[in-house]
Amino acid sequence: MIQLYQPLNFMGMVYREIRQAVIDIEQMFDVLAQNPEIKDKPDARPLVVSQGGIRFENVHFAYDPARPILKGVSFEVPAGKTVAVVGPSGAGKSTISRLIFRFYEPQSGRILIDGQNIADVTQVSLRQQVGMVPQDTVLFNDTIAYNIRYGRWDATDEEVEEAARLAQIDSFIRMVPGGYKAQVGERGLKLSGGEKQRVAIARTILKAPPILMLDEATSALDSFTEREIQSALELVVKDRTTLVIAHRLSTIINADEILVLDAGQIVERGRHEQLLAAGGVYNALWNRQREVDAAQETLRRAEAAE
Ligand code: ADP
Ligand code: MG
Repeated sequence: MIQLYQPLNFMGMVYREIRQAVIDIEQMFDVLAQNPEIKDKPDARPLVVSQGGIRFENVHFAYDPARPILKGVSFEVPAGKTVAVVGPSGAGKSTISRLIFRFYEPQSGRILIDGQNIADVTQVSLRQQVGMVPQDTVLFNDTIAYNIRYGRWDATDEEVEEAARLAQIDSFIRMVPGGYKAQVGERGLKLSGGEKQRVAIARTILKAPPILMLDEATSALDSFTEREIQSALELVVKDRTTLVIAHRLSTIINADEILVLDAGQIVERGRHEQLLAAGGVYNALWNRQREVDAAQETLRRAEAAE
């Protein structure tokens, strides 16, 4: 028995190594698909994260040189804290997260993580330590379990299910035919935006990166789904350095700092109460969102009454 067990175990190890290699290649293609122009420097070192503090120093960025997007952005996300970025659509919020992931590089200025310029570290090491819950999660044409395990390939079934529970998607998965083995994506089960995002949250819970970026879902989500996602996110965010790109201001009132980005510049910063009291852009955004919420509520009531 022992003799038989050993080679099988060995085979298992080889299989896992091959599988990891295949996955590394997949992730490499993910990255290449984003931007093939970003290359590691010949002397690039792995990023060493001790605390996980992020620092933007006078970052200027444009996708197209004729049209600047970020115009001298400086801020800090201290280790373990949560900083939120808010502002009108097109302000450059998601661009900030793409720069942290180094899908693009600033034209000038620096982005540091624990004092290391991310331009000097390997992309692989950077992306291992930064987790991203994007605005639109793309799922692989594979099982739900596969899509969650993408966060950490050596996770056991129990760990995958625990992550799904924390992300508030486990009971949904158990209801669909096939459960965790159900195929999703183009050729399988179609998931709603909120469900996909919860799969992404489960993935991130498994990955447990020291640095997190959340690009919150838009108001396309109903308020119930949004609350579910919110409570899932609170678990992930706890004690991690987190940058939240918020569409709904109600979700970030407890952020350690809120940055108001407008046309590529930080026009206001502070905590929720301070910004409200300042009576500026944030205050106006807040009031407009309350009006929209109230109008939607009235509409819902009217529909329910019909
Ligand atoms: P936000 O997340 O605040 O809505 P984004 O950071 O996504 O804004 O985009 C900021 C601006 O950059 C927008 O005007 C957008 O059209 C433009 N933009 C975003 N991605 C690209 C891209 N890949 N190429 C060119 N322009 C882009
Ligand atoms: Mg965006």
